[in-house]
Amino acid sequence: MIDTYRHKGLRKKLVEALEEKGIKDEAVLKAILTVPRHFFLDAVFTEQAYSNMPFQIGAGQTISHPFTVAFQTELLALKKGDRVLEIGTGSGFQTSILCEVGAKVFSIERQRELYLKANRIVPKLGYNAKLKYGDGYKGWPSFAPFDKIIVTCGAPFVPDELVEQLKPGGIMVIPIGAGKEQEMLLIKKDQEGKLSQEKLGVFSFVPMLKETAK
Ligand code: SAH
Repeated sequence: MIDTYRHKGLRKKLVEALEEKGIKDEAVLKAILTVPRHFFLDAVFTEQAYSNMPFQIGAGQTISHPFTVAFQTELLALKKGDRVLEIGTGSGFQTSILCEVGAKVFSIERQRELYLKANRIVPKLGYNAKLKYGDGYKGWPSFAPFDKIIVTCGAPFVPDELVEQLKPGGIMVIPIGAGKEQEMLLIKKDQEGKLSQEKLGVFSFVPMLKETAK
């Protein structure tokens, strides 16, 4: 895979489009400008990799829209060194964006095929995320607690395990809804462990499923 000036130019245009759609966080925009999204897609999609579109990544799953990735990342209000748990590694693109912004990332994927693929590409790009094949409903207790949690599949409810694994002062971004559409929920845990939540618009994710797939 090569990253050409043309790809870089397309990323610059994508960043401008995301700014127009309301993304403001400079670190997030810089990460989108830096991470070569076409590396995460099948070669047939290379030409369209920088349009604001989702794509098939295998095992019936999709890589999220760049806007969704930027929006969720911005909501996390990341600080360098934040420990972030991601549910739904998928292609590894969102994982790489989180790393590029300076987070220490732990990411879980329930499709073995996708886990294996992401486990090759993410380190190849120089990112040192910890990936796991497993069920995101359980979180990752041995590395908890986390400063931030991001769920990139549509969850029917907020899993208790994830709330438990969020630090006091932490933020979780999770799309909630069992149907085709979900409401983006921003959950904050204060220093006393009290939760508050905000709804931030309707999105469309693949479903968060129970247990692992083969
Ligand atoms: N962040 C990804 C988005 C992938 S789509 C990217 O940037 O490409 C969501 C992913 O969540 C899919 O790969 C799907 O297999 C995964 N998923 C669904 N249910 C899950 C669960 N219970 N635990 C972990 N991953 C899950």
